[in-house]
Amino acid sequence: MSVLGPRRACREITPENLLLPAVRVFDPLTELDRKADLLLSEGCIAAFDPSASQRQGAEVLSELEGCHVFCGFIDPHAHLRTPGYEYKEDVESGSRAAAAGGFTTVVAMANTDPVVDGGPLVGWVLEQAQQTAWVRVGQVGAVTRGLRGQELAELRELLDAGVVGFSDDGHPVKDTDLLLHALRYLRDCDRPLLLHLEDSSAALDGVMHEGAWSARLGLRGVPVVAETGPLGLALDGLAYASAEAERLGKRPTPVHLQHLSAGAGLTRLRLAKDAGLPVTAEVTPHHLLLVDEEVRSFDQNLKVNPPLRSQADRLELIRGLAEGWVDCVGTDHAPHAPHEKEVPFEQAAFGTLGLESAFPALYAGLVAPGELSLERLVAAMTAGPATSLRLPVPRLEVGAVADLTVIDLADEWTLTEGDLAGKSRNSAFLGRRMQGRVKETIVAGSRRLSASRLQDARAAGERD
Ligand SMILES: [Zn+2]
Repeated sequence: MSVLGPRRACREITPENLLLPAVRVFDPLTELDRKADLLLSEGCIAAFDPSASQRQGAEVLSELEGCHVFCGFIDPHAHLRTPGYEYKEDVESGSRAAAAGGFTTVVAMANTDPVVDGGPLVGWVLEQAQQTAWVRVGQVGAVTRGLRGQELAELRELLDAGVVGFSDDGHPVKDTDLLLHALRYLRDCDRPLLLHLEDSSAALDGVMHEGAWSARLGLRGVPVVAETGPLGLALDGLAYASAEAERLGKRPTPVHLQHLSAGAGLTRLRLAKDAGLPVTAEVTPHHLLLVDEEVRSFDQNLKVNPPLRSQADRLELIRGLAEGWVDCVGTDHAPHAPHEKEVPFEQAAFGTLGLESAFPALYAGLVAPGELSLERLVAAMTAGPATSLRLPVPRLEVGAVADLTVIDLADEWTLTEGDLAGKSRNSAFLGRRMQGRVKETIVAGSRRLSASRLQDARAAGERD
């Protein structure tokens, strides 16, 4: 079947003629790592080390001297809460948080109210993005109508409306027959099925990882098998549907596993990849950096789904990311209002913010201490998510669209609420060490972080 490609929308801002002097251009995909004067013009990378005549008329951003320049980060997993939950976040505020975190593309999940399970709603969200978003916004369509897990959503209509992929995120697709139907229906489309793996009969009403700490704290736990059970089933279903597709001479539907938390699942993932199945996987910054023991503080921002696992799980996730079995980092940015979080731990909503802190938390926690290379972290936030979502893979090269993030790797600080750029404050990383400050986020050659801050300052002025 022939379908139009995935759409990503953001507001248009006239591209600038910019010179970033003496920056370090860094792209693990092409093994680029050197000092350069970077010239951006007409929305593209115009030159590394331009001639005097090329430089003429360019605005020189000397405040960025010495910074690293990467391809703009891509978040395959965020909750922008539009439509229906705009008191938590919306396309404008969520994309502002993305710009603050160095993301130039962010992909919104469909668990909104109403659920994004039909074409017109996709069009409406992307229209919001076209008018208000600071960075590119892609939209995921629901797999099942209303995320109820009973019948498929309007997949064809969603495809035509330009969804990036399909997910019932927030809920699992429990019904194996429906899973196979979706895999069959979407073959040849090159649009991934994103799976939130959770066996709710095992997760029950658990609020943290099931283990020694849940027993000690007297909190109901979510066992690892609540994730590894459905992971096995998903990979078996993918193997079955892919073999069937090949027999028919069709391209199988790629599957992307969302927010893996359990180390035990990585062995299965590795086997599936070795067997050549079209499967990719993401991990979140919080599962890479935090563990169940920290829940003893009863900090509601540490209540996430899937839950923070054991130290052994965390180390396996880091190894998976370092060795490349895990393809990318997804923030699972999940904003909530104070009345949903500032309640007893058992009753608090699941989720933490992630966009603003993803890179600096991971750089401080993993790269600076030598547990992960800068190459792997940057790849997992650029080419990794692009490949997983079947989006164009960004490259830092002359002629490429100037979607870039500029970071001062030497800058260290402690995350406070003042660093959060979206509407909500529920970050698991408040009070934690950060390193690697985003100094600018550039989309299609225009400065989005500066522009969003300027608008904020103007809005604050109007309120005073
Ligand atoms: Zn999820």
